[in-house]
Order: sequence, then structure tokens, then C-alpha cells
Amino acid sequence: MPQAPAKPHGTARTEAWTPLPWCIALLVYPLTAQWQLWDGFSSFGIANALMLGLLARKPLWRRWHCFAAIALASLVAQLLNQQPLLSALFCALSDVLGVLVGVTLLARLAPATLQLRREHSPLYVLPSCLAASTATALVQWLEPGTGQHWYTLTSMLATEGMNHLLIVPMVLSYAPPGRQHDTNHLDPLPLLALLLSELVAFVLGGPGAMAFTLPAFIWCALRYSLFGTAALFALFTLWKCLLFAQGYDLETSTVIGGMAALRLELSLLWLGPLTVACSHAARNEVLQRLHYASEHDFLTRTLERGTFMQRCEEALAGLQQPPAPMAMLLLDIDHFKQVNDQHGHAMGDQVLQGFADCLLHQLQPPALVGRYGGEEFCVCLPAASLEEALSTAERLRAAVQALCFPLPQGGRLQITVSTGLAHYAALALPATAELALALADAQLYHAKESGRNRVEHLAITDGKIQPPQTQASTSPALAPPAAPDLSFRD
Ligand code: GH3
Ligand code: MG
Ligand code: MG
Repeated sequence: MPQAPAKPHGTARTEAWTPLPWCIALLVYPLTAQWQLWDGFSSFGIANALMLGLLARKPLWRRWHCFAAIALASLVAQLLNQQPLLSALFCALSDVLGVLVGVTLLARLAPATLQLRREHSPLYVLPSCLAASTATALVQWLEPGTGQHWYTLTSMLATEGMNHLLIVPMVLSYAPPGRQHDTNHLDPLPLLALLLSELVAFVLGGPGAMAFTLPAFIWCALRYSLFGTAALFALFTLWKCLLFAQGYDLETSTVIGGMAALRLELSLLWLGPLTVACSHAARNEVLQRLHYASEHDFLTRTLERGTFMQRCEEALAGLQQPPAPMAMLLLDIDHFKQVNDQHGHAMGDQVLQGFADCLLHQLQPPALVGRYGGEEFCVCLPAASLEEALSTAERLRAAVQALCFPLPQGGRLQITVSTGLAHYAALALPATAELALALADAQLYHAKESGRNRVEHLAITDGKIQPPQTQASTSPALAPPAAPDLSFRD
């Protein structure tokens, strides 16, 4: 059968047009332009940094119409603020140019570096932010009528630089709850330490007061998510700028303005906690990956045998009080060797993955799914009654039979599975998960001998083996031993 031509990669990308960047730009620029009228907030403009972060995160937004949205939103914001047209135009141009420069640089970074999940992330992300803010500040500075004074340039650079350094990492590191790699403890102590150190800094004052909070921020970086730490630092910055606007912490510099010096100080202070937070996030991600790899089978993502057995033992212990039943299933793909022999090992691997995906999709916790070895998989169903276990096994058998694997040369491949099931009533649980598995293995043997693509089971109640209702289908020569070596939990 002729294969359908593959879709060109670019198709999906050009099709996806969204009005979201327009909405965000048209909301954020006028809003933040309004708070620039108020003295304390004026040092904290987030629009350019926010748009840069969003465009860096979303490749689909790096389109000319998104940059047009930024320019238009910035122009509208300035006109609403009663700025003369020429000044508003310069402002819009500087905003869009800054974002363009920043996005061009950030787009070249590897995804993990851009998401601040590597130790070296700040080394690459921060210079891009600085380049973006420099472009914005320079164009604004060149606006006719500003006098092109050195003081104005340093002030603009410090403002844009600080905003970018604070906001861009926040946008880049944001992850919805549940998809965060880094620690996300709700430990109140680092926050408390931060508040306390800021109180001490406020009371004592002096040139070194700003550094008082550094240890607390590093603690926050180690305990909270990168996004949380960045958000805390942004609030801290806002607080410091408000204090400064009210006349506190007046440390004037002869070279650059007091507010510019404060912004510079805040930006440099932020580098320490940001670097710690990035390193911590990178370490956590590696640890999580290692932990996952140590517990799961690489090919099928089911539990690796040792972990499966350990989790079964834990489940067995939990089924003692209150007493509850359990079932152990051993599933073996029928004639799997033929798949390898006829279609190659790569196809065999695909079948194993598809089979395992099917099991994982069909079963929900507390069910456990593990790879016993080769094409054999084990499933533990804690607290399942005999009827539930049998219907689950039958559901799995039918779902596997319905699987369809397209073959490269055309046509499709279907498989079946044989299942051995051992069910234990409450108060009749096996001493070990290994024993339950051995019993399920004996039943699997019967299923294979009885023609495959079927479920054979054994039920143990009050320390006795109940003859299964489907015993007639099992060959007498292969019937389970009359008194298998079973140890029951008391
Ligand atoms: P039966 O119906 O009796 O279970 O027959 P079978 O062919 O499924 O069983 P057999 O034990 O004869 O063959 C299992 C095969 O599974 C042999 C082995 O090469 C293959 N196998 C084991 N692990 C993997 C794997 O990870 N990938 C692939 N492609 N094949 C594997
Ligand atoms: Mg086998
Ligand atoms: Mg097999």
C-alpha cells in the first residue's frame, strides 16, 4: 500500500496563528505605562521583558505579526500617556527592537539552557537579556530632544537591564504545577529568614544593608522552585524601589544616578541566587531522571523487575490491615519470537512498547505493571476481588488482541497474549510476592498449553487452592500441583 507523503515540518507551524500575543501586548504595555506615572513603580516596567520571555518560550510566536503587536501596543501606551507622537514612535521602535535582539539571541540556545535547567543557563540567558535592554535603551537615548546625556543612558540601561534580568528568568522557568522539575517545597523557613533579614537591613541601613538578604535568598533558591525564587526577588526589587522612591536607602553615586545605582546593585545581587537556583534545578532534574531510570525498564517504561517486586511487597504489607485480597498476573506475548524472526528486532521492540503502553493505559493505580523479562510482563492488582481480577485480565487480553502494528512493507501485525492469574483472598495472602508470581507462572504455563490467547487462574482462599471454574479447559497433566509450596501470611 503506498504510504501517504509525510507532511512538511513547517506546515503545522505556519498554520497555528493565535491572537494571544496581541491580547497580552495590548494589555501589558498600556497597563505598565500607567504605573510608570507613579514614582515607586516607575522603576519596574515589565512589558518588554515579559514579551521577550514569552517569545523566547514560544517559537510559534516569533512571527512578524507578534512584533507588530508589540510596536503597536507600545505606541498606543505612549499616546495614552500623552507622549508626543515622535517620542511615542521612538519608544515603540526601541521596545520592538529590544525584543527582536533578545529573541534572536535566545532562540539560538538549546531548550534545556533556555528553560534555565542547566548550570550554565545564566551565562547564556543573561547576556541576551542585557543585549535586549541595551538595544532598547540605546534607541530611546538617541531620540531627538533627550539631550543624549550619559546620565540618561545609564539610567535607561539600568532600568531595562534590571527588568529583563528579573522578569525573563521568571517567564522562562515557569512550569504549570505537576510539570516542575525542581523542588517545590512549601517550607516557610527560607521566606521567614528573608523577611527577618530584610527587617534587620531596614533597621540598620548603611552601605552593606543590601547584602543582608543574600544568604536568605540563596536558601530560597535551594528550597523553592526557580520560578518561586525569581518571583520573590521581583517582589523584593519592587519593595526596594518603593523604599528608594520614599527617600530610604539614599546612597548616591557621583558617576551614575542613585536609582540607577540601586538597580545595578539589585541586578548584581540577583545573579547569586539565580545561579544557585539554576544549578539546583539542573541537579534535581538529573536526580529525577536517574531515579526514574533506576526504577523503570528503558524500552517499555514499565517497572523494572526489582522495583516491581519491592512495590508488590509494600502493597502486600498494606493489605494486611484491614485485610484485603490481591491478584498477581503474568502475561506472555504469544509466539513473539516469530515477530523478531519475520520482521526484525526493531519491529519486535515496537511491539513490546505497544504492548506495554496498552497495559499502562488499561490499568490505573494501585495496579502495578512490571517487565518480568523478555516478552513477559507482570501485573499486581492490590485489593482486587477474584471477579475484578478476572475481568481485568480478560479486558487486557481483548485490548492486546485489538492492537494493530503497521508493518513498514505494508500490511499490519496483530498479537495475542496468554495470562496466568493467581488470586489471594483477604487473610490468605502469600508470604512473598515471589510466591504469588510462581503460582501465576504455573497458570501461564496452562494457558500456553491450552491454546494461548487466554486467561488461566487459580484462587486461594483460607490457605486452600480453589479449583478454577475454567479448569476443564486445562490439561489434567498440567493441572496445578495438589499442594504447591505456599506460605501464607497470618
Ligand atoms: P510463546 O508463545 O511460547 O511465549 O513463544 P514466544 O516466541 O513468545 O517465546 P520465546 O521464549 O520462544 O521467545 C521470546 C523471544 O523474545 C526471544 C527473544 O529474542 C525475544 N526478546 C526478549 N527480549 C526482547 C527485547 O527486548 N526485544 C526484542 N525485540 N525481542 C526480545
Ligand atoms: Mg516467554
Ligand atoms: Mg511468549
